[in-house]
Order: sequence, then C-alpha cells, then structure tokens
Amino acid sequence: MTESVWDAIVVGGGPAGLSAALMLGRARRRVLVIDAGSPRNRFAEHMHGVLGQEGVAPGELLARGRAEAAGYGVEIADGTVDRVDRDDAGLRVTTDDGAVRTTRALVVATGLTDELPDVPGLAERWGVSVLHCPYCHGWEVRDRRLGVLAVPPLGLHQAELIRQWSDRVVVFTAGLGTIPPDAERRLRARGIALEPAPVAEILGEGDAVAAVRLDDGREVAVDAIFTAGAPRPHDGFLAPLELERTESPFGSFLAVDAMGRTSDERIWAIGNVVNPAANVPMSIGAGALAGGAVNAALVAADVDAAMRDAAESFWEQRYADSDRVWSGRVNRVLADVAGALTPGRALDLGCGEGADVLWLAERGWQATGIDISPTAIRRATSAAADAGLADRARFRAADLETMPEEVYDLVTASFLHSPVALPREDILRRAAERVAPGGHLLITSHASAPWADAPAGHEGHEHRFPGPEEQLAELALAPDAWEVLIAETRSREAVSHDGEPATLDDVVVLIRRR
Ligand SMILES: Cc1cc2nc3c(=O)[nH]c(=O)nc-3n(C[C@H](O)[C@H](O)[C@H](O)COP(=O)(O)OP(=O)(O)OC[C@H]3O[C@@H](n4cnc5c(N)ncnc54)[C@H](O)[C@@H]3O)c2cc1C
Repeated sequence: MTESVWDAIVVGGGPAGLSAALMLGRARRRVLVIDAGSPRNRFAEHMHGVLGQEGVAPGELLARGRAEAAGYGVEIADGTVDRVDRDDAGLRVTTDDGAVRTTRALVVATGLTDELPDVPGLAERWGVSVLHCPYCHGWEVRDRRLGVLAVPPLGLHQAELIRQWSDRVVVFTAGLGTIPPDAERRLRARGIALEPAPVAEILGEGDAVAAVRLDDGREVAVDAIFTAGAPRPHDGFLAPLELERTESPFGSFLAVDAMGRTSDERIWAIGNVVNPAANVPMSIGAGALAGGAVNAALVAADVDAAMRDAAESFWEQRYADSDRVWSGRVNRVLADVAGALTPGRALDLGCGEGADVLWLAERGWQATGIDISPTAIRRATSAAADAGLADRARFRAADLETMPEEVYDLVTASFLHSPVALPREDILRRAAERVAPGGHLLITSHASAPWADAPAGHEGHEHRFPGPEEQLAELALAPDAWEVLIAETRSREAVSHDGEPATLDDVVVLIRRR
C-alpha cells in the first residue's frame, strides 16, 4: 500500500511522540503517529512528578494526548514500524502489516525496554513494588524498609539517593562486585546497611514485595525494592540507515543535537529512545522542542522549493517570451580557455540555449548542458539536432542544485547570476566536486552588472558579483587538491541593448584538480 507524502511520521505514541505530534498538528502539518502501544511506564498505576497531571494513570495521559493531537488533525495508527528507507521523495516507513508510507520528516519516539536483573520474583513486581526512580515513586514508599538491588553503573549513587526517602535502607551489593572502601564509608555514614551476599529471590504476595532471600538462605524484610534495568533503546529498525551513535555508561544511543535531530537531517529522535533518564515531563518537553524544530525544517524546505519555483518561472518566462534570448555565439572566455584543452567530457551549468555546449561538441567534446528553463533546453536540443551534433551535445532541463553524479574533464559556469535567488555559492562548490582528476573548472562572471528587470517580489534582491579572489575563497577548495591557473578580471568590448558600444569586465577563474 502506498499513499501521498506525510509531512511528518512520528514513530511511538508515548509522551514524547504525542507531544511532538501535538506541536506539528497545531502547525497545520499532515502528521501520522504509528504506535505499538507499549509505553515504558505501563506497569505503573499512577504517574508522579508530572505537573498538572499528578497521580494520573499513564494510560489516561496518553488517551488525553491522543485526543488532543487528533483534535488538530493528527492521525494515529496502531502498528509497529519495522524499517525505514531513504528515498528521493522522502523517507519510506514500513510497518509490520506491510504498509509503506512516505514522509518528509521522521520523529522517532519509541522509548526503551528496561532489561531487569535476572532475579526470580523481580520482573513481575516491576512498577508496583520494584521501582527504578525515587522521583516517580519514592514519596509513596517514604519511611518504609527499602532495599536497593544495586547494579552498575549507578548502583552506589542510587543507594545514596534512596536514603533521602527513608532511613531504613539496605543495599544488596553483590551485583557491583567489591565496593571501594570510600564508597562503603559514604553509605555507612548515612546509616545505610550493606548486604554483600548474592540475592537469590524476591519474596512476597502478588505484586507486593515482602523480603529478599539471599543465596545463603537468610531473608531480609523489605517493603519495596529499587533497582535499575539496563536500557535497551527501541531503535533497531533504523540500523540500516547507519545513523551516528554515541556511547554512554548506559549503552549505545542515537546521537542527537539539542533539538533531537540525528545525523540524518530528516530524522529526529526524542524521549527515552535517546535519553533513558527522561521522565514524562522531560519527554513531553523534548517532543515540544522537536515538534517545533521539525516544523522549522519543513518551513525552510517549503521556502527553498518556492524559491526554486520562482527561479524556474522567471527563467522560463524570459526564454518563452522571445524567439531567442542570447546571440547563439560562444562565450569568448570559454572559447579561449577550452580551445587550449584536450577535448573530453564537459558539463555546462546554466547552459541557456546551448551555444557553448554546441561549440564544445563541434570541437570534439562530449558536452552536457543543464538549464532550469525547459524552453531554453528545447531550443538547445533542436539546435544540436540541426547541427548534426545530437550525439555529442546533450541537454537536460533541471534545477542546478540537482547535479549529475558523473565527473567531467571540464565543468563550466558562465554568467551564473540571477535576479531571482540562486544558491550560486553552493552550486559552484558542488560543480567543483564534479571535476575529474586533472580536469578544469571554469567560472566566468560579471564583475558587476545591475539587474534592471528583477521580477515582482524580488526587487532589491541583493546581487553579489565576487571578484576573482573572493570567488576562489567562496569555493573553499583544499589547496593541495587544486591548482589556480587563472584568477583575474578581463575587459571586453561589447554592444549594449540599445546598440551603444560598451566595455564589460568579466571575472575569470580557472582551476585544475591535481
Ligand atoms: C515502571 C515505571 C514507572 C514510571 N513512572 C514514572 C512516573 O511516575 N513519572 C514520570 O515522569 N516518569 C515515569 N517513568 C518514566 C516514563 O515511563 C518515561 O519517561 C516515558 O515513558 C518516556 O516516554 P517516551 O515517549 O520516550 O517513551 P514511551 O512512553 O515508552 O513510548 C514509546 C512508544 O513507542 C512505541 N514503539 C516502540 N517501538 C515502536 C515501533 N517500532 N513502532 C511503533 N511504535 C513503537 C511503544 O510501544 C510506546 O508506545 C516510569 C518508568 C517506568 C519503567
């Protein structure tokens, strides 16, 4: 099954995921939450430390969250995401029922599993009388007999912490091995009892803990046990994407920035899947941050797309409005430079009606021209056919930001200026990447030229005309990989639109990949 592209798919409908979905829904994004329905705190009857929701059942908070998000058009589907693939159109998300959905952005909020110490009687009381977090459940067992089943890496810290809630604390230390004398002195100073014998079993009636039975047969009476599971983040379905990870004493987690963005700029990861210490409010906060960040990224992408559309329609109109826009003669700098090179494969960026590409093809080059205007490309293609050069002069109507994968012996960009926004610096840097070893990059540009005809909405758009040195600096090339052959301003005689003779200055930069 396939369907149209979602703005965002949120994997996981716990506090983190629903909070992100709420933000995105309110930002009028088309959002789908896919949730397997097993939040980490499902074992607990009540949540604590959650302002405004104190004592509310975990399921109740999520039901409210789902309803609130749905109120802004967020769709929620039950299911488990099995895999995510990259695609030109976005990210393809596959669920366990075989459904495939495509999304522009992905928020991973899948939480984790607490892998508990393997002690009989422990796991079945998890969340009721076997607890992990005193901020969540310490108040409810204050002043009671509390056992701490200490495990690395934070067992000793947890023991010191629990003493804040009761002065009747016993730490079962076998899981830590030998304890440093300093650490033992700290615990004893606070009146905490230490029990080094290994724990054999947790005893009690139903969910309630009554005692800890030790390997040597002794029983220690307790009313609750604190321990820590090893956090196992639910991120295996992302493994093929090879996202960057970070190692911590708690294990390996996806690496994220402050907003939750991973090393893939379309994927965010939030809540317990990246931060095992995040409680419910922290997970909600992370969701709110990431929701805003995802929307900001989508807004930026929407603006870029609009700018591309504006550029395309500006250039298309410019060509379509007249029979022929340029002279059809080769640019003189290109003729001078390429005339001295051995023909090979050439790429002309912003080729217009194709005069330079045809000139190159005539001289034995296998030349490709790219231009954003379909009309210009149609004209160039038919000129190539008329000249019998169709096998050596090829043209493609495309945005210059999507450059071919191949490498070329000559990449050339002549007068790549535009009164509508054009990411010229980016394009030229990527053009350099397309130059083969031993090949050349030739950039010819106006030293200065006012645009008299900026289209509506683009008036005052600042056109920068970098000089030769500035142009080189913008390319940010590794000096050991490139040789600068020409970097200068050349004057030439020209005829202006109204037929008057004029002198024009061209900036010429020719570099060669070593
Ligand atoms: C026993 C216990 C009690 C707790 N009590 C408290 C408390 O009182 N107060 C407090 O603030 N915090 C408490 N916590 C911590 C709390 O559980 C977490 O802070 C919170 O659950 C983190 O939210 P999350 O959205 O990151 O992950 P989760 O709440 O775990 O939600 C993740 C969701 O993603 C789904 N999912 C996983 N993989 C997939 C997949 N591949 N496809 C689709 N869906 C998937 C899961 O089924 C789940 O529904 C407790 C934790 C435990 C273990």
